[in-house]
Amino acid sequence: MKLYNTRTRENTEFKPLNPGKVGIYVCGATVQSFPHIGHVRSGINFDILRRWLTASGYDVTFIRNVTDIDDKIIEKAKAENMPWWALAFKYEQEFAKAYALLNVLPPTYEPRATGHITQMIDLMQLLIDKGAAYAPGNGDVYLSVRSLDSYLTLSRQKLDDLLPANDADETFKKDVRDFALWKAAKPGEPSWPTPWGEGRPGWHLECSAMAHSYLGESFDIHGGGLDLIFPHHENEIAQSEAAGYGFANIWMHNAWVTQSGEKMSKSLGNTMQVKELVKQFRGIELRFYLGSAHYRSMVEFSPEALQEAATNFQRIENFLIRAKEIVGDYEGVISAPIKAAFDDDLAVPQVLAHISDALRRGNTAITDGAKDAIKASAAEIRGALAILGCDPFDSSFASGGQDLSEALDGVIKLALAQRAAARERKDFAASDAIRDGLAALGISIEDTPQGQRWSIK
Ligand SMILES: [Zn+2]
Repeated sequence: MKLYNTRTRENTEFKPLNPGKVGIYVCGATVQSFPHIGHVRSGINFDILRRWLTASGYDVTFIRNVTDIDDKIIEKAKAENMPWWALAFKYEQEFAKAYALLNVLPPTYEPRATGHITQMIDLMQLLIDKGAAYAPGNGDVYLSVRSLDSYLTLSRQKLDDLLPANDADETFKKDVRDFALWKAAKPGEPSWPTPWGEGRPGWHLECSAMAHSYLGESFDIHGGGLDLIFPHHENEIAQSEAAGYGFANIWMHNAWVTQSGEKMSKSLGNTMQVKELVKQFRGIELRFYLGSAHYRSMVEFSPEALQEAATNFQRIENFLIRAKEIVGDYEGVISAPIKAAFDDDLAVPQVLAHISDALRRGNTAITDGAKDAIKASAAEIRGALAILGCDPFDSSFASGGQDLSEALDGVIKLALAQRAAARERKDFAASDAIRDGLAALGISIEDTPQGQRWSIK
């Protein structure tokens, strides 16, 4: 299998560090807003990678972290008037819901940054001992970037060309291009004790410490969105390699979802939220759309393109259902051309072309009544769709575009309206039947002067 390594800028034959096993670390969300489709594309792309490696016989350990402490989380928590940890948990759950709606498999482990402060302190101590980091005494800790040979080898920039990302608070730096591993506490902000003073972690340090905790000093694949190459991944490499770790063998980056050529951002955001889009499209259709481009190609979002993808998916799905009616149950298989396409740096557009061919053959076979050919086409399509996470017979998609509790409330109100109408026309048998039917489901009704009220027993 070949994968494109951003660090070497070439397709390389994938060889796991430990035979039969693959360790993957993907940067997860900073949980401070409802997820939009730009946020979840990385989840889908790396889920396809994981499914393909698993189908290829590897035992995959897949880590996707949650960044639950960050400037934006602290600001947003103030704006929403809630504790920072409550805000982070709220949006962590929203991301979990979106991933479930899109059939993104849960990671093997999903570490939260704030649960790994001890590991971050250990890593900083190691870096200070090695002379690669320094604590100027105000509570900050910085990485000394000029002490490293490999700095900027991922983004291929020159250190002196870098604009100093100088924060007004970071006046204690020895070099303007050094970056903060740890930030001194500010009044009213969350902080943790360290040997160098109270403070909170820098974003980059979190990922190095968590990747090391779960995958060891060296692991196979590190992934994330294109925008993370610099500074985030560059700084993860700097910290980890300065600590003496081999760190990630292959770096993979998914491209963005764009709108009018611009990276999708929160300001463009609300209508692109997963929770809104799944009111119009099924999760499986949205996933098919977002997963159908090559992971290194931009997806230019338009409602028309999404609608077209949904229609294409329905055409494929209808064939698979029709095939099942004709030939009975069948399992998915991975055909040789589809294997070759996935093995070529996850060439999903080629996979889709093979699916189209199989669909054409399958529909012809239906016309001809050729059962074996119907089954062969359907099995090939189903096998490929399973890797794309879009098998229509897969029951693991979370249901529905809307909140289930809202739907339940609506259904019960409908039943109560029917019961009220029955009583109105003095059809007590019908009214009692509705009440008893609901009671059997654990839902009790109380008649109050304000009308009927329901509760779950
Ligand atoms: Zn990260």
